[in-house]
Amino acid sequence: MSDGRKPYIAGNWKMNLDRSKALDLIKTIKGRLGDGNDREVAVFAPSVYLADVSAVAQGSPLGVGAQNMYYEPGGAFTGELCGTMLREVGADRVLVGHSERRHVFGEPDEWMSRKIRAALRDSLLPVLCVGERLEERKGNKTDRVLKKQLESALIDLQADEVRRLTIAYEPVWAIGTGEVATPDQAAAAHAFIRKWIAQKLGAESGEAIRILYGGSVSPDNVKALMALDDVDGVLVGGASLKPDLFLPIIEYDS
Ligand code: PEP
Repeated sequence: MSDGRKPYIAGNWKMNLDRSKALDLIKTIKGRLGDGNDREVAVFAPSVYLADVSAVAQGSPLGVGAQNMYYEPGGAFTGELCGTMLREVGADRVLVGHSERRHVFGEPDEWMSRKIRAALRDSLLPVLCVGERLEERKGNKTDRVLKKQLESALIDLQADEVRRLTIAYEPVWAIGTGEVATPDQAAAAHAFIRKWIAQKLGAESGEAIRILYGGSVSPDNVKALMALDDVDGVLVGGASLKPDLFLPIIEYDS
């Protein structure tokens, strides 16, 4: 964590909770948030609950985001949602390229740059998720995979656009498995991503961009992860559903 980058703690609720549990959870988080000056906190809620969740979050520094979007501005795309719809129900940010979108639903790398452009066009702050699968890590292909995902998603971005972007490094083998990346693994991947951004999109962008770690984050490992130079926050799945796990992550002691 660098002094210049504000810590960013985000929960990804995935396809979990019902309306009443989602509202209870957001009320609890809101009640425990400070003024938001020293850390940014956000939840990525199921789209059908965004309007209710963002209504509760209103007036607090809590960010509310969608878990996915399509890149077209509207039209015959049954089952999809565009950025303006998500904004209208109170989302201020969106996940792009979560590993479940890539690997369960087969979203191709080429979509990610279109989604990032669409998010920025529609005034949503994108969080681009990247990360390697187990066989890729075992085959020493982690850097190659990250490079390909970053290149296809970000290569055309301008400096002012990069400023609104966050990256989440989420090794696929660590998501929902209880197996967290070691500090060395996380440090190496985050340093690789920051260096790539600095080389391709400018030194200033490399210094400013926040890179979150995601993959089995818990109250027990958050402090060690956040102590790493290039880790600026965490994206939390399972543990973000329970206040007794998510609140200590939000309130980790730096
Ligand atoms: C995620 O969904 O992005 C995630 C990291 O999940 P978990 O924390 O459950 O591994």
